[in-house]
Amino acid sequence: TDTLTVSELAEKLNKDTAEIIKKLMFLGVMATKNQDLDKDSIELICEEYGVTAEQVVEVDEIDLDNFKTEEKAEDLIERPAVVTIMGHVDHGKTTLLDSIRDTKVTEGEAGGITQHIGAYQVEDNGKKVTFLDTPGHAAFTSMRSRGAQVTDIAILVVAADDGVMPQTVEAINHAKAAEVPIIVAVNKMDKEGANPDRVMQELTEHELIPEDWGGDTIFVQLSAIKREGIDDLLEMILLVSEVEELKANPNSNANGTVIEAQLDKGRGSVATLLVQNGTLHVGDAIVVGNTYGRVRAMVNDLGRRVQAAGPSTPVEITGLNEVPAAGDQFVVFSNEKQARQVGEARQQKQIEEKRTDKAKVSLDDLFEQI
Ligand code: GDP
Ligand code: MG
Repeated sequence: TDTLTVSELAEKLNKDTAEIIKKLMFLGVMATKNQDLDKDSIELICEEYGVTAEQVVEVDEIDLDNFKTEEKAEDLIERPAVVTIMGHVDHGKTTLLDSIRDTKVTEGEAGGITQHIGAYQVEDNGKKVTFLDTPGHAAFTSMRSRGAQVTDIAILVVAADDGVMPQTVEAINHAKAAEVPIIVAVNKMDKEGANPDRVMQELTEHELIPEDWGGDTIFVQLSAIKREGIDDLLEMILLVSEVEELKANPNSNANGTVIEAQLDKGRGSVATLLVQNGTLHVGDAIVVGNTYGRVRAMVNDLGRRVQAAGPSTPVEITGLNEVPAAGDQFVVFSNEKQARQVGEARQQKQIEEKRTDKAKVSLDDLFEQI
């Protein structure tokens, strides 16, 4: 790209947007922060700070966002919702994830056991839903801190015998910050002392008000352990998905986010990717975070080898040079050479950043000692 907005330029130069606006004013250019700057203005500002425009734009050129396909509305079709289960410890998140999987994935399909790849898909009434089963709030905290937004709907699990607890509130705040709709799953309804009214009452203090009480939050009562209420929950997830109008173009180069990744003795770098747009294919040239490669093999959540993975599908891939981090973005390139160039440039930049971070840390340490 050769244009940047004022605030993008400020970010690249590591300066305040207001400062850039002021400088532009002195140069006779009246601009607001979201205004696109022409090449000349960018060059003038860069000169003021003693950097060349190429240096600034070069950094921009390895930003993976620039390589995502821009989609036209008419190419977009419905895609499955990506759901994260959150809530206080011991309120039943893991049990719920297990019971959804066991209820909805038929024996024959899973071959009994489903392998763990960090996410799985189930089908209900012919529609798919993707569940992230990364432990705890990882899907929100670590991924969102890296700027990745993977979740479309948050299920807030609250034990009916325990009510709203600190991590319940934390989960609400994460979901709200991400502007993700929340469905409340009031769990452990089988237990003596289960008090769903109290849960509803307590949640009104956090602006989660049931529909019956004039609000717009969906509450589902269930028992994860007895597998009661699972169908109701799935029905509500599909309802919310429809309202959200989640869409993607399955006919594009894929992009998405790393759910988890590790080094495997036999297979090398193994990464679970969530495809968010497009379709990922075996053989694709791909940049993932600061690493790159060619998709050598793909395995789905049922442990089966697949050749392609469409929008909202989690898939485990091999073929990367190194192990990426959860929350890293990935983008497929039509041109393998370009993928290698961008991948190498990103790797190089990361090495340099680490070096400057280190230098900075040791200088700080030095001053601290003085
Ligand atoms: P997590 O920490 O949120 O993942 O909670 P777990 O799924 O590990 O559940 C914590 C405990 O609550 C376990 O002993 C579960 O067996 C139990 N539990 C989970 N769901 C239910 C339920 O619906 N009813 C009852 N009675 N116990 C449950
Ligand atoms: Mg758990």
